[in-house]
Amino acid sequence: MENIAELKTLLSTPKKIVIVSHRNPDGDAIGSSLGLKHFLTQLDHKVTVAFPSEFPDFVSFLPEANRILIHDNNPDFVENALEGSDIIFCLDFNSLSRIDSIGDFIRAKCQDKVKVLIDHHLEPEAFAQFTLSQTKASSTAELIYVFIEMLGYEHLVNKELGTCLFTGILTDTGSFKYSTSPRLYQIAAKLKEAGVDDYALQFELFNAQTEKQLRLLSFCLSTDSMQIFDEYNAGIIVLNKRDYEYFNIQRGDTEGIVNFILKIKNIRFAALITEQPKIVKLSLRSKGDFSVQEIAQKYFKGGGHKNAAGGISYAPLRSTVEKFKKILPEYKEALTKEDTTMTIV
Ligand code: 5GP
Ligand code: MN
Repeated sequence: MENIAELKTLLSTPKKIVIVSHRNPDGDAIGSSLGLKHFLTQLDHKVTVAFPSEFPDFVSFLPEANRILIHDNNPDFVENALEGSDIIFCLDFNSLSRIDSIGDFIRAKCQDKVKVLIDHHLEPEAFAQFTLSQTKASSTAELIYVFIEMLGYEHLVNKELGTCLFTGILTDTGSFKYSTSPRLYQIAAKLKEAGVDDYALQFELFNAQTEKQLRLLSFCLSTDSMQIFDEYNAGIIVLNKRDYEYFNIQRGDTEGIVNFILKIKNIRFAALITEQPKIVKLSLRSKGDFSVQEIAQKYFKGGGHKNAAGGISYAPLRSTVEKFKKILPEYKEALTKEDTTMTIV
């Protein structure tokens, strides 16, 4: 962000600010948004956080999570906040189409507002006056810390703010398994110094599952729901409408399931394919050099990161699974050749 000094001047007097993030917000969307809110309120700004759709229960303990506005539930509240705002911060997404209902409103009614984009997804759209986009960053939460540092306000990072950012980092890196860097560990150390109890936080985030979620995981792994294609070092888990009804699957219940496929040693490419009310959703993951972002973009109207991406299909579940299987031979070489990024020494 070359024009950071200009943004610092803007932020030197109280403003009305709305922070928005993507549909089905994950730990990073929520952690980075609430972390930024705790920072900006200390600078005397009036700050509202808004998402297109509900966030999962496992992050509802985060400070101020109960004040987040959800467009699906209260469109007027969100739209009034946006219309009355001076600055809109856009976090953890790279294109206004990723925030659908809110994006449409911003495009139509918020042309005059200052927009700031802070994100780590590939191929960011240039819709904001101020952009901090680093695709190598582990998480948007990491970038919020970098942003605070760029403005020279590290001393404002306290336990509340830090806990929100640490949540984004933990969830997007799988607890420091992916996208780490020396900078990330330095930031984690600073957050811990600021009072973050990372031990308690890991338990709150990851050892808080319900019996239903564990039984659903067991079903996914022990039945035909999971199919492994050893020839392609790939695997899928498929959940249909009946499974959704039987397990009463709610938002957040399928979180993390796709990663279990990657626990198989040879598997490099995994997909969770789920039958939603109007669409089929694909959640793609990979290990090493294989890019699922490319597959999400090329075949499933989606995107994301090299090792974690997502997309959708309007075809029925069965044909979507068939389409997925047909794609595998095209990537056979990439999925089976030696991957030097996975070499340890
Ligand atoms: P998840 O599989 O956890 O839903 O998403 C993994 C990553 O892919 C996230 O960074 C998310 O933003 C991105 N992603 C998921 N679904 C979509 C989609 O439909 N479109 C785009 N562009 N990105 C997606
Ligand atoms: Mn993220």
